[in-house]
Amino acid sequence: MQVSFEDFKLNKQILDAIAEAGYTEPTEIQQKAITPLLAGQDVMGIAQTGTGKTAAFVLPLLMKLKYAQGMDPRALILSPTRELAMQIEEHIRLFSTYLDLRTVLLYGGLGPKTQKEQLEKGCDIIVATPGRFLDLYLDGYINTKSLKFLVMDEADKMMDMGFISKIHRVLEIVPRKRQNLLFSATMSELVRKIAGDFLAFPTVIEVTEQATPAKTVSQTLYRVPNLKTKINLLQHLFKDDEAFHRVIVFCKTKEVADNVFGYLDRKYGEDNVRVIHANKGQNTRINSINAFKSGEIRFLVATDVAARGLDVSNVSHVINFDVPIVIEDYVHRIGRTGRAFNKGDAITFANPAEEYYVEKIEKLIRQSIPVAELPEDVFVEKTPFDERQTIAREIDNQKKKDNPDFKGAFHEKKFIIKQKEALKSGYKPKKTAPKSSGVKKKKGKKFKNS
Ligand code: AMP
Repeated sequence: MQVSFEDFKLNKQILDAIAEAGYTEPTEIQQKAITPLLAGQDVMGIAQTGTGKTAAFVLPLLMKLKYAQGMDPRALILSPTRELAMQIEEHIRLFSTYLDLRTVLLYGGLGPKTQKEQLEKGCDIIVATPGRFLDLYLDGYINTKSLKFLVMDEADKMMDMGFISKIHRVLEIVPRKRQNLLFSATMSELVRKIAGDFLAFPTVIEVTEQATPAKTVSQTLYRVPNLKTKINLLQHLFKDDEAFHRVIVFCKTKEVADNVFGYLDRKYGEDNVRVIHANKGQNTRINSINAFKSGEIRFLVATDVAARGLDVSNVSHVINFDVPIVIEDYVHRIGRTGRAFNKGDAITFANPAEEYYVEKIEKLIRQSIPVAELPEDVFVEKTPFDERQTIAREIDNQKKKDNPDFKGAFHEKKFIIKQKEALKSGYKPKKTAPKSSGVKKKKGKKFKNS
């Protein structure tokens, strides 16, 4: 096993760039993937972000491409999101400082004019999201005949985001003879399927067990009854500004994210916090991420989609203000801290309705998340009526999902209230005819059951 980057057959230009990037030893995925990739094998890497997977495929790719050649791309790297695409392109730029290679980054959400102009100048590598790549291909801006390397990063997320037909379309338009790489944090049925369509006799490399959080991340769970108490807990934790110096706060919706942002903004001032979610323009998002990366701001509030592929080192803490409902996102979220050889803390707040997802996450990661008591000086607020109702309804829905016969306490209560209201207004419910009787039920006269 290679223990230093010098042990790989990489050229001096690349080794110099690696040294300048401050990488002293290869991570596990790099140790395992670089040699087979240099040998021309197809590789399937099961590795989450934070393991150094990007450099694991970028370094051998650069070594193979070496220098600019012709007009048409020789490598295509597909990413599910623009944030991840940007991160990959950054790695390429970093390691090709002393190489003469041209990379074009293609993603949607902004006009294609500049991207078209860049393509017209000729390139060696394209890093792209599938939709924009296909659009520009169909517009005649990309010639795929010289493609020799195809990389699919975060294949699990590609499948989650419904890119499967786009991927198949890409596979139809690239040359048959090529080297293929697929990376995925988890190994779902769909990923297995796309790997089968895509890779030829791959070398499979798994660096940690399926969906296991990086060992460098310590995890904590707080049981918190409601949103206001979550804010109080946040406030308590953030008093320790030395420890909590660079924090990402994940929220499940843009509404919650805006709420948390509003609170932090009032408390710590706008110079200390930014928020990124789908409603924020591309430029605002990039500016916020850069401000966070450079250490200009202390807090970044984010939703899962916006934070996908976010590569920031030295994040001291990831706070899951809400438990992610797409449970795989838990692994992605906490992968933002404890990157490569650094240590990090992931703290999750769960209300009673979220316990359901905590259990599922624990099954997925095959470990239980240590529970911490709420600190004494965190004021526990009373749960407001609306929030109580929402939580009760969610718990009911979860029970129904697991047991379709379950009718649910919430459902019954609501039904009784409706019945009382209806009776007050003088309406008498008709007896519902048995299903087999063939009697047509009248529309609009029955109670809705949910
Ligand atoms: P990735 O898993 O590719 O998203 O990488 C996670 C982070 O680890 C990035 O910030 C990389 O720059 C960093 N990294 C990757 N490989 C190494 C290495 N061998 N030594 C130090 N840091 C690394």
